[in-house]
Amino acid sequence: MKKFAIFGNPVEHSKSPNMHNNAFKKLGFDGEYFKIHLEDGSKLKETFLSQGLSGANITVPHKEEALKASDYLDDFAKKVGAVNTLVLKNDKLYGYNTDAPGFLKSIEKFRDIKTILILGAGGTVQSTSSILKDAGYEVSILNRSAPRLEKFIEHGFECFTFDNFKPKSFDLIVNMTSAGLKDENLPAPKELLDSVLPNAKAAIDIIYGKDTPFLKLAKSYNLPTADGSEMLIQQGVLAFDYFTEHQFDLNLVEEFMREGLFDS
Ligand code: NDP
Repeated sequence: MKKFAIFGNPVEHSKSPNMHNNAFKKLGFDGEYFKIHLEDGSKLKETFLSQGLSGANITVPHKEEALKASDYLDDFAKKVGAVNTLVLKNDKLYGYNTDAPGFLKSIEKFRDIKTILILGAGGTVQSTSSILKDAGYEVSILNRSAPRLEKFIEHGFECFTFDNFKPKSFDLIVNMTSAGLKDENLPAPKELLDSVLPNAKAAIDIIYGKDTPFLKLAKSYNLPTADGSEMLIQQGVLAFDYFTEHQFDLNLVEEFMREGLFDS
């Protein structure tokens, strides 16, 4: 039996095992997927190897360590500097990023979106901002502090901190911070969010399975909203495809992952 895991801290809330295990079972793949709570990210590689894993997903806050742990990076993961999927092949760790293509697919259902304001500037924003820009969206980034914005400025993104933010109209507002994950915080001061949400066409919080303060605020403006479930499913389908070496129909994988997430 092949073993897979998700590394994170916290990781208790993760639904990835439900999705992957359901797809393994329904597709007749001899695999199991479990959670590993990892305090010290520098121990990622040794834990992966000592657990005898064939592949893993990596969530907050270990994505930078996953990048460092990779012996080889695929082109997109190298470009964006963020890894959320590791696969062991011939004793080498291959690093991939499935978050960004997963997010891109997850926003397909929202129509007439051209301009996007992303809240946050962490690992997930690094990958998603790049793929969104390449797909033709105009992306602006707002973060509470300046240091992480530097690399986005270098790549030509319009960037703001709370102090120098200039309100204007954005079609889609996305929370990609971890505010609201373990706490009840908004990702930005309420006055600032109140200046952009009324003109938006939709809002997404990529945290999943929780009505976060950001989603509640967006709903109070009657905006169409979504949590991170769709992104979770789509990034999971792509990771599963790497784990199982492209042998299954991805429509079926998606169906079984969706079932695993919502029926568990
Ligand atoms: P990182 O740790 O790399 O980045 C965190 C970001 O959040 C930073 O920009 C940080 O700002 C900001 N931040 C943290 N706390 C607050 C706060 N209280 N107020 C305002 N800003 C804050 O995280 P990731 O990019 O890896 O993940 C971000 C979120 O996305 C997590 O909640 C994660 O669970 C979720 N996620 C969901 C996925 C899905 O499939 N649905 C996939 C991937 C991630 P600063 O620079 O100032 O510290």
